[in-house]
Amino acid sequence: MTDAVSPATVQADCCVVGGGPAGLMAGFLFARAGLRTVVLEKHADFLRDFRGDTVHPSTLQIMHELGLLDAFLQRPHQKLTRLVGRFGDERLEIASFDGLGALCPYIAFMPQWEFLDFLADHAVLYPNFRLLRRTEANGVIEENGRVTGVAALGPDGPVDIAARLTVAADGRRSTLRKLADFSVVDLGAPIDVLWFRVPKGDAAFDDTLLNVGAGRMVITIDRGDYWQCAYVISKGGIAEVQAAGLPAFRKSVCAVVPGLAEGMQHIASWDDVKLLTVAVDRLEKWDRPGLLCIGDAAHAMSPIGGVGINLAIQDAVAAANLLAGPLADGTFTDDMLQRVCERRLFPTRATQFMQVQLQNRLLAPILGNPDRQPEPPLLMRLVAGLPAVRRKAARMAGLGVRPEHVHSPIGAQPLPSGGISS
Ligand SMILES: Cc1cc2nc3c(=O)[nH]c(=O)nc-3n(C[C@H](O)[C@H](O)[C@H](O)COP(=O)(O)OP(=O)(O)OC[C@H]3O[C@@H](n4cnc5c(N)ncnc54)[C@H](O)[C@@H]3O)c2cc1C
Repeated sequence: MTDAVSPATVQADCCVVGGGPAGLMAGFLFARAGLRTVVLEKHADFLRDFRGDTVHPSTLQIMHELGLLDAFLQRPHQKLTRLVGRFGDERLEIASFDGLGALCPYIAFMPQWEFLDFLADHAVLYPNFRLLRRTEANGVIEENGRVTGVAALGPDGPVDIAARLTVAADGRRSTLRKLADFSVVDLGAPIDVLWFRVPKGDAAFDDTLLNVGAGRMVITIDRGDYWQCAYVISKGGIAEVQAAGLPAFRKSVCAVVPGLAEGMQHIASWDDVKLLTVAVDRLEKWDRPGLLCIGDAAHAMSPIGGVGINLAIQDAVAAANLLAGPLADGTFTDDMLQRVCERRLFPTRATQFMQVQLQNRLLAPILGNPDRQPEPPLLMRLVAGLPAVRRKAARMAGLGVRPEHVHSPIGAQPLPSGGISS
């Protein structure tokens, strides 16, 4: 006799594992196409600090195509219209989004939980959409070598989700991609990043984003009443930074951005400083019968350019464009899954190629030369000096390679949005 409880079973057309940008956008689009869609999210809420906060013109364009842009822009955000770098005393404009021709020619900095709350709020208006919070996928259900759903543990015990399509959008430490035994190509990264927030003091600031000093680099993002800062360190260098102590850390940051001196006093312990272990990897094949990986689960991106969220959103849009119609009209077959990879692998490879070049040729040499006074690398001078190249840099940063547009069908109508704040 066993007293094991049989799992509850939920039937769905599409089961998405992970309620991050990729998973919620995919869930929203599949539900909008009229499919019974279940998104599993292991956390109870989206309140995690220092995740990607950069919403690029490409993602804003998607919001516009979904008719959600005006409501989205009512959520708190700051706008960045150009990318400016300071190398020692020299200041260069690297890209300006003005000439992009995009509907929203700026990057919107919005806390990721606002972004995810917004998507979830709009997705749940579809009666055929369910978001199961505090529900963690821990197994893949297979029949005859085909993935037919996932096993999960929710607040009320085990639950099986049976689905015609399972989407792994569970981030760069994806459980599903491990369980399904995908092989991962690791491109390596010579850097890690320390994130912290610095209250604004009285010091005057300009809109410089990238600050380079001798052997050091600090990103400063204006977030209204504070600076969101990123301090770039050599891979695995956190132990050395911590061993040198907080006063040395504060001094090192202020040596590059003196205006942060007053606010840096608020960094009272290492708990105020979050480590992003940078990884750059990808799957060369994103699908198995019944299962598709998207977002960070298919490719972890370097933080360079802040493109992680935006690629995740583009993957979700491409997946819905290619699969939602056939799933809805019953013509879906597993060989359609590889079309998503065929479409999205090139933008992923191209973006990662550029990130790896910048990591290895720009960032690593700066960090490795603490005695050399910084000056802009030739590449930056070229970009800054030639308007045509600057426009290309802006296009690459803002719209990315092969931007997606929403073509997936509308097969369900949302309930009135009376309860949504905006
Ligand atoms: C510190 C930090 C700073 C970053 N800064 C930027 C930035 O400025 N700009 C940018 O664009 N990108 C940034 N990124 C990267 C960006 O956050 C990711 O690229 C983006 O969030 C990827 O979206 P995703 O939906 O694929 O995965 P994720 O956002 O990782 O979402 C995956 C979701 O799946 C859930 N999950 C995981 N496993 C399971 C499971 N087994 N069952 C159920 N749920 C599960 C997780 O809780 C999570 O909510 C940053 C990342 C970090 C860690």
